Amino acid sequence: MRAMVLVEPNKPLELMQVAIPTPNADQLLIKVEACAVCRTDLHILDNELKQPKLPLILGHQVVGTIMGTDERVGVPWLAKSCGHCSYCLAGSENLCDDGLYMGYQINGGYAEYCVAYKDYIVHIPEDYSSIHAAPLLCGGLIGYRTLRLAGDAKKLGFYGFGAAAHILTQVAAFQGKEVYAFTRDGDTETQNFAKSLGAVWAGGSSEMPPEPLDAALIFAPAGELVPQALRVIKKGGSVVCAGIHMSDIPSFSYDLLYGERIIRSVTNLTREDAQEFFQLLSQAKINTVVTTYPLEEANQALKDLKTGKLTGSAVLKI
Ligand SMILES: [Zn+2]
Ligand SMILES: [Zn+2]
Repeated sequence: MRAMVLVEPNKPLELMQVAIPTPNADQLLIKVEACAVCRTDLHILDNELKQPKLPLILGHQVVGTIMGTDERVGVPWLAKSCGHCSYCLAGSENLCDDGLYMGYQINGGYAEYCVAYKDYIVHIPEDYSSIHAAPLLCGGLIGYRTLRLAGDAKKLGFYGFGAAAHILTQVAAFQGKEVYAFTRDGDTETQNFAKSLGAVWAGGSSEMPPEPLDAALIFAPAGELVPQALRVIKKGGSVVCAGIHMSDIPSFSYDLLYGERIIRSVTNLTREDAQEFFQLLSQAKINTVVTTYPLEEANQALKDLKTGKLTGSAVLKI
């Protein structure tokens, strides 16, 4: 099969012919139709996430069919959890001590085929095409966990308006919440995009919203947004950081945190999150905005994501 392979970090992926993987008794062979590109893929490529399996096929937002059937499934970031560590037993398999992650410790979906653990795949609602469903598997799904961790906050600030935020704006609007979108200063194109998806306000990340917010969700990997976000939330509100990697958070006055404000991160996902989110997707039709690339142009897709050239999500069409 054809695959885009990470041979070593900080080098472009290489198009290679490799053997079709053989599933073990707990796995299924998936014929990949689409794989969305995630910022985490960039963090692995740029050596910001340590110890990936090498050589590695990236990709953890996979939509494809189970070989020998026409059943369409999604393969998200959590490939497998151990099932017996203290976290797994407490229902927090996202924190598993021995979790395996798709496109990181096992080969992912930047390829014509991949294997996936049976108990961790997701069923894709029929009215979503494979290309449009792929970004829901991480941007959507881990974004949904981020939204959930903001509790019952009604007025939400979103910092970094890319793949996750463009999905979550629609989810939040469906839930009757208000989204205030913060983009790079002066990026009126993205601000208009946010409003077109249902954001009630959009501005630059150094701006103050018209009124204090209940929570802020940070999707961009920029640590300097943490004190910015603390400035816009009310007492008792949370700043929830959605990314797997962030640049250092600058020091800031304790006054910004005082008032029982909370800063927390989001780590991975659980199968329960996936079940809940995909159930919601069959009630709320979410329109993902995608730019497609052929498999062999994965490097270009990653580059466009890095330079902020994209609107919505990049998706490899296999
Ligand atoms: Zn575990
Ligand atoms: Zn991801």
